[in-house]
Amino acid sequence: MSGVMGKASEVAIIGAGIHGASAAFHLASRGVKPAVFEQVAPAGGPTGRSSAICRAYYTNPYLARVAYASLEMFRSFADLTGGRNCGYHQTGAVYLHPDADATALHEAASYMNSIGTRIEMLSPKDLRREFPLFNADDIGVAAWEPGAGYADPVATTVGLLSRACELGATQRLYTRVAGLKARAGGGARLSLESGETTECERLLIAAGPWTRSLVAQLGVELPLTVERHYVATIRWHDAREMRFAHADIVGGYYCKPEGEDLYCIGPLTPEPEVDPDEPVRGLDTEESHALARLATKRIPRLKEAVSTGGWASLYDVSPDWMPVIGEIAPGVFVDAGTSGHGFKLGPALGADVAALVMGKEVDAGIRDFTPDRFTAGHTLSAGYGSAKILG
Ligand SMILES: Cc1cc2nc3c(=O)[nH]c(=O)nc-3n(C[C@H](O)[C@H](O)[C@H](O)COP(=O)(O)OP(=O)(O)OC[C@H]3O[C@@H](n4cnc5c(N)ncnc54)[C@H](O)[C@@H]3O)c2cc1C
Repeated sequence: MSGVMGKASEVAIIGAGIHGASAAFHLASRGVKPAVFEQVAPAGGPTGRSSAICRAYYTNPYLARVAYASLEMFRSFADLTGGRNCGYHQTGAVYLHPDADATALHEAASYMNSIGTRIEMLSPKDLRREFPLFNADDIGVAAWEPGAGYADPVATTVGLLSRACELGATQRLYTRVAGLKARAGGGARLSLESGETTECERLLIAAGPWTRSLVAQLGVELPLTVERHYVATIRWHDAREMRFAHADIVGGYYCKPEGEDLYCIGPLTPEPEVDPDEPVRGLDTEESHALARLATKRIPRLKEAVSTGGWASLYDVSPDWMPVIGEIAPGVFVDAGTSGHGFKLGPALGADVAALVMGKEVDAGIRDFTPDRFTAGHTLSAGYGSAKILG
């Protein structure tokens, strides 16, 4: 196969995580037929290991709008994708904050309510009454988002990509893009590991933790780093008493139900940087115990739960913990750096990313996420304190 020149495409996408799959879906829905290159299977990278909590609880107004639109897509997924199921469960979510967050939270809640995301503010007294499982001693303020939930990240990604293919996209699975060169007139020439090369007029790189090394081949330096993040799972026989998700900003962890009696628990805070090309170390016992200590401090009755395992995966993080989206060279775009909150953004963000790639009108809010903001000194604020993952 060495030296074979494949068919040129108008648009190519590297990566079939939720972001690449969603962009393919929205491009194909607009009549563009992208070629999607994925080194493993759809959602075979970090997306498939996501806790997949879906909420529209954001401090950034643009992301709050995108997350709201994504929740609408999860709910109407079957209609959008020819009858496919994304496994969305609406459970609601509670957010537990220190008093110091009160002003920022009220402001964010007011915006979220104004665009249709219902957020109810709870005083510690309300919290004790409505959610008696929590030890609320160190909580200053809390919020309840009834529309939040979780989805199946693999089913969502496969559903969007499969629908894109029905509409004319092509998927090249188990096909690693090994080399990238800028193409005269815009776009890029892609060299596949097999030796084949192909060209595209426009390229979207949505390669998660491997985005930085791909764009470096075009002479572009993106300040993305990669962290290993883990999830511990527990089983609790009284799980019917806690069907909702919660994020404990004071304690630094999140917890979401998974099916009938399981929960996934993970940290809300940064972890050390790792090399994405090294094997990912699985969850270790001390990490699992540390998460259990946080969860049982907040919910003493979880002492009755048993550990059932867990896993670890990677995510790519920008210096301000906000996504990096935009054109980095003529006709070459990135959508990456979504850290620990990018799954739920993916379905609706793909519409704006598709518009950006095709040079069409787009919500101007996306321009704040331009990759050159770090050199221009326009970094964004994210989340609350060290829980930047809340966006
Ligand atoms: C443990 C964990 C828990 C999380 N929990 C949540 C959560 O509850 N809610 C939430 O919203 N978000 C969560 N996230 C974050 C979310 O999963 C990510 O933001 C999102 O999945 C990123 O999607 P992506 O498409 O940008 O990247 P990825 O999923 O990283 O996809 C990139 C794809 O590109 C492919 N690729 C890379 N290089 C090449 C190449 N050279 N050639 C071909 N293919 C290539 C990879 O194989 C991969 O499939 C979590 C993440 C982790 C790790």
